[in-house]
Amino acid sequence: MSQCLDCHELDLDAILEQVRPLLGKGAVADYIPALAKVSGNKLGMAICDIHGNIYSAGDANEAFSIQSISKVLNLTLAFNIYGEALWEKVGREPSGQAFNSLIQLELEKGIPRNPFINAGAIKVCDLLTTRLSAPKQRLKELLWDLCGTKSISSNRIVAKSEREFSDRNAAMAHLMKSFNNFENDVQQVLKVYFHACAVEMSCIELAKAFSFLANQGKSAITQSQVVSSRQSKQLNALLATCGLYDQAGDFAYRVGLPGKSGVGGGIVAIVPGECSVCVWSPELNHFGNSLAGSEALSIFTSELGRSIF
Ligand code: GLN
Repeated sequence: MSQCLDCHELDLDAILEQVRPLLGKGAVADYIPALAKVSGNKLGMAICDIHGNIYSAGDANEAFSIQSISKVLNLTLAFNIYGEALWEKVGREPSGQAFNSLIQLELEKGIPRNPFINAGAIKVCDLLTTRLSAPKQRLKELLWDLCGTKSISSNRIVAKSEREFSDRNAAMAHLMKSFNNFENDVQQVLKVYFHACAVEMSCIELAKAFSFLANQGKSAITQSQVVSSRQSKQLNALLATCGLYDQAGDFAYRVGLPGKSGVGGGIVAIVPGECSVCVWSPELNHFGNSLAGSEALSIFTSELGRSIF
């Protein structure tokens, strides 16, 4: 297996300085009021290579709301439980639509396009609720297992704020229910979903947690085999095609890696066989993806000379 021989030569501080002029040009997510309070000036980056070496810069130690990055983790749990049968309930095609769009859900009879748009992630939470007695606890245990620490938790204030402004996500769940593609109580499932979105982690913790996707399914930190090597390949394919919603093509063009964003301003990306990387800058572009974060990743892959394409 190749090593991330070049990671230690990268000047991460210099990458962050190159994108710092973008701060002030995006907007912090404010449709979840608790997230609107985060300072737009934050900027951090961390890499975890497949040997567990960590490289970091800026605000890489500060925990932030992981939001939709959590969709990968719940999907990992569901994929392990359901295997290929999962795809009868959720699609795996890029949506080309905003992450919270309802349009395709109506047109495609309640089957969400993929597990990374909100409808798909809520459906994954519905499936977890059917099979697990404590899905929120199970996610926490997965995170502890991936990071080798029990210090990670979900922010109750953010989760509550999401619940108070949940009309759109509730509409998706009810629409799926009207098409017979929803198994549990909508409010119960939304609690599982919001709990996951409100998990707080730092760039370093996220880079560590996602190392299994760079390392054929095995955590570079704890050595636990989280998914099979085949499933790791499949999850990376979903990240590459669907992880940045209707900006997935542009992200492939500029960054060229499997990636997953969240409206908290984090983006995790994977260099298969080498490392996982996380950037955080809370100001978003109009796709809901971190503006400076995606630019930092573009510089990162150009300097590293890596892409999956
Ligand atoms: N919690 C957010 C929501 O449900 C997650 C969206 C995101 O990060 N893209 O809208």
